[in-house]
This record gives sequence, C-alpha cells and structure tokens, in this order.
Amino acid sequence: MQHFLLSPQSRTLKLKTIYRLSEWEVFRLMKGTRWGNPDNLNDVCCPHCNIRHHAYFLSSRKRWKCKHCSRHFYITTNTIFVFHKLELVDLLAAITLFVNEVKGISAITMSRHLGVSYKTAYVLCQKLREALFKTRNLSPLQGEIHQDGMWINFRQRKANFHNNRAKQREKKTGYPKFRPTKRCIISLVQRASNDELQSSNRTIVAMDYTENADTIFAMNKRFVKQGSDIFCDENPAYKQLDFHYNVWSVNHQEAYNYQGINNNLAESFNARFRDLHRGVHHKCDNKYALHYANQAAFMSDNRQKSNGELFNDILKRCLWVLPLREWVGYWQGNHRTQELIGITAFSPEEISQTYFKNLNEMMKYEQELLAA
Ligand SMILES: [Zn+2]
Repeated sequence: MQHFLLSPQSRTLKLKTIYRLSEWEVFRLMKGTRWGNPDNLNDVCCPHCNIRHHAYFLSSRKRWKCKHCSRHFYITTNTIFVFHKLELVDLLAAITLFVNEVKGISAITMSRHLGVSYKTAYVLCQKLREALFKTRNLSPLQGEIHQDGMWINFRQRKANFHNNRAKQREKKTGYPKFRPTKRCIISLVQRASNDELQSSNRTIVAMDYTENADTIFAMNKRFVKQGSDIFCDENPAYKQLDFHYNVWSVNHQEAYNYQGINNNLAESFNARFRDLHRGVHHKCDNKYALHYANQAAFMSDNRQKSNGELFNDILKRCLWVLPLREWVGYWQGNHRTQELIGITAFSPEEISQTYFKNLNEMMKYEQELLAA
C-alpha cells in the first residue's frame, strides 16, 4: 500500500498559496477561522465582554469597536498571537511549515524560511506548541489502550581530558551516569477503531521523574474508562491497575509482540518523539519537554490528515487560546517557572486557558446559519 504522505490527498496546501493571499484575504481567513462567517466582517464576538453582535468595523485600522463595552479590538486580541510584530501572512506561513514537518521543525530552520531572527522563530514555534498543548483533547480513553514510558535528557557526557583518552580507549568501562535532568515521558495511546467519533489514535502524555506507579494510577483513573484493556510492558508500575482494568503485559526481554499482545502504539509514539527530540531539537528544557511530547502526539494522531486540514486545525487552536505571559516578553525574562511534573500538567490553569465560551457560541451560531 502507498504511504499516505506520498498520496496527493496529503498535500492540499501550498506555501505559494499562502504567500499569494492579499492582506485582506489573510484578514478574512483569520476572521472566518476565529468567529465564523468570513463574508460579514461586522459579525464578531467581543473578546473583552464575550458578547456576539454586529460591531463597528474601522476598516482603515482593521479594528472593531464593541457596542457594549466600547473597547477596540483587533483580530489577534486575546489570542496567542497578541502583540505580534510579524505580518499576519508570515504567521500563516509559520503554521504551514510547522504542519509540513511531521517530525517537528527546529527554530533555526523556521528562522531561515521566514527570514526572521532565531529568537523570533523560537517564540513563534513555542506559541504554536503551547496552543496545541492548551487545547489537547483530554476526554476519557476507552477500548484498547497502550501505555509506556520513555526516558529523555538522561545521558551524562564523560569529561574528555586529553590525558585520559588512552586510558578510556583501553578500559571502555564506566557506564555513563544519569543526569539529574533525566525525566520520564509517559504515554497513553488509544487505538483508533475503539472510538467511532474520533476515528484516529489519541495520545495523552505526561512527564515524571520516573515511571512511577502513583502517576500511572492517577492518570489511568482520570483518563481511562473502567474496564478498558490496557497493554503495557512488565514494569511493576502497571501491576496495580488490574483491579479496574484488564491488563495485558508483554515481556520485552522475550518479545515485543507475544501472541498478539504488544504495546506497539505507545512504542511507535516513543519512536516519533525520539526522532523529534534527538534528531531535530537535540535537547529541550524540562520545563517545555511536555510541549514537545504533545506536539509529537498531535503529529502522530493526525498522521492521516492532509496538511490543509492540519493548518486549519492549528490556526483555530491558536486563535482560541488566550495569551500567555511566558510567551509575551520571553526574551525579556518571562519564563515558565516550574516543570509540569506528573498530574500537575492537568491542573485547571493548564487546561482552562481556552476560549471555550467563544467557541461554543460560534458553533451555535454556525448551526443557526446552516438552519436558516
Ligand atoms: Zn465588548
């Protein structure tokens, strides 16, 4: 069978198309993605007071004025792209480049494509990752779920002194020490055929210091429906799950697939994330490691979708996510202060940063338009 990425269905969007859009076409596209109804520019939802109405549109400044709170707003107000300095078309091009790289894109590559500095490109890529992270689907998994953990940032490089080299060649001993930055990325992957609504695999990732039983139990309790089939390896951390779930484990010292039992969906996520982490980014700070893992999960879950679909998906997410302090003035020192260890990655402030109210209103409105 032909690989999906070789088929014409996988490429429905060209960079050329994006750069040929006029300023107004870009504006209309973004307006339609954020509030729907791209033909009527007046029909918007005020980001300050969240009331949908026909606002005044000041076309010379491309700004709206709310009839209720009288405040002005722009297409990127209260989104992840707030205070952007790049042209809107460059933001769209960045999303296109981002979805075209199935194993992730480095900030250096992005900076060369767009002709911007490394710092700008880094923050832009991180904003896209943040939008994916904040809008990830955390509804419970069911059916067949494969689970595994993988280590990142673990290898300690040995000191390479000239005097010691001969000795090192002779000995070839000394198992490399583990770094204090070592972390474990835990992934829960649901097989596509178990979910009629989604019809694609779904991955939820978490990070911890080790693959420990408490985190795995807490994650399963929260994200996996009781009675599901869990496929894992022989790690004792999964042993306590068998009260609520059917646990099938495979001994990796014997085989990776023993009599049809395997956790290969999780292993294949690990492989993709390993490619992204080691091959493209080379390293990542533990504060943002989960964002990279979530990007790999997104690309892995949506690998059967065309780049046009992915583009629309990511643009929508970017326009729904509220701005974050850590990406406004990042290079001036507004950094994230804590790592997202264990279940803290699913705390309310990590998942409620989106504009769900706006989204629901938009969907209701679109249905009304369709019905009329
Ligand atoms: Zn308002």
